[in-house]
Amino acid sequence: MNLIIGSHVSFNKDKQMLGSVIEALSYGSNTFMFYTGAPQNTNRSAICSNLTDLAHNLMLNENINIDDVVVHAPYIINLANDKNFDFNVKFLKEEIERVEALGVKKLVLHPGSHVNLGLEKGTSNIIKALNECLTSKTNVIVCLETMAGKGSEIGYRFEQLKEILDGVKLKDKVGVCLDTCHINDAGYDLNNFDEVLDEFDKIIGLDKLLVLHINDSKNIKGARKDRHENIGYGTIGFDNLIKIIYNEKLKDVPKILETPYVDTPIGKLAPYKREIMMIKDKKFNDNLVNDIVSDNK
Ligand code: FE
Ligand code: FE
Ligand code: ZN
Repeated sequence: MNLIIGSHVSFNKDKQMLGSVIEALSYGSNTFMFYTGAPQNTNRSAICSNLTDLAHNLMLNENINIDDVVVHAPYIINLANDKNFDFNVKFLKEEIERVEALGVKKLVLHPGSHVNLGLEKGTSNIIKALNECLTSKTNVIVCLETMAGKGSEIGYRFEQLKEILDGVKLKDKVGVCLDTCHINDAGYDLNNFDEVLDEFDKIIGLDKLLVLHINDSKNIKGARKDRHENIGYGTIGFDNLIKIIYNEKLKDVPKILETPYVDTPIGKLAPYKREIMMIKDKKFNDNLVNDIVSDNK
């Protein structure tokens, strides 16, 4: 089967998406995800059309389909709360324009945290914000991410995402990104993924599932924590993750690793090349850190 797999990669202002593609190829990926700037702030530089063209040419040569590429919106913007609501809406509008300028079609967004407003008001704020940002001309699909349920996060139950999707007027401009670490931490049982996927299909519809975030978890099911772990090194486990990745119903959905960099004697290093090898071979690597170090020597 044609596996669409990649990871989070960097995006810096000198090379922009061209640098992201080169990094993705170095991991053996055929897709990738990036932030258009630092995830924790909203400082963004203009998209350079030259670099974008070079990135697209390289993707064509290397058989990366731009439709599988993903941008992640900065997690600092919170559409659920009243605080800075207008600023956040304006930022999301501009982010959608940047993503369009890059030719990327999928933008992953954390729905938001209601803080102390309550689920109902938070949800209606998210719906209002999305309806302000999306127009009939929008050429990007905003993919709401399944959350872990940390603090007052909205979107840790499929029903909550469904309610947001139902409130959005332009239905073809919204979808869902399912994060394996997050749904585990939210309480879904990944030992029975087929049942989880059936539940997703019943409540939201599988046609809405447009991105998968593949992460193991440092915490047990239902911990409501959100701490990612390397593939096969957490509580979800290698076999469960492989079953999800190779699920026939998800074969056309891009799979993105957001696992942590590993601590090594020569510094913090990206695990993605070796994790993607494990996934392609369907064989767990219990020597991950040493292999990563030897790749970087
Ligand atoms: Fe995320
Ligand atoms: Fe994620
Ligand atoms: Zn997370």
